[in-house]
Amino acid sequence: MDKESYQAYLRSPEWKEKRKEILEEANYECEECGSDRNLQVHHLNYDNLGEEELGEDVEVLCKGCHEDKEIEKGTDLYEEDDYGEY
Ligand SMILES: [Zn+2]
Repeated sequence: MDKESYQAYLRSPEWKEKRKEILEEANYECEECGSDRNLQVHHLNYDNLGEEELGEDVEVLCKGCHEDKEIEKGTDLYEEDDYGEY
């Protein structure tokens, strides 16, 4: 999975649908702080695109917690992730 195809996936109708399912499954709450605002679906890995499992492949975080995590890990995933508002 290169960066380009990942970003194309994030723009696809498949991901929009999947993202909605994931948010519903997470009860529209941030897994870290329980906030229901500025939620983002964060990929933990890119192995199962299209078949993501909550807690396995993706997690739901609010913007603040997401930023904290990415800074902690020092990765550049942050800018690649899905910033669409739900
Ligand atoms: Zn949070």
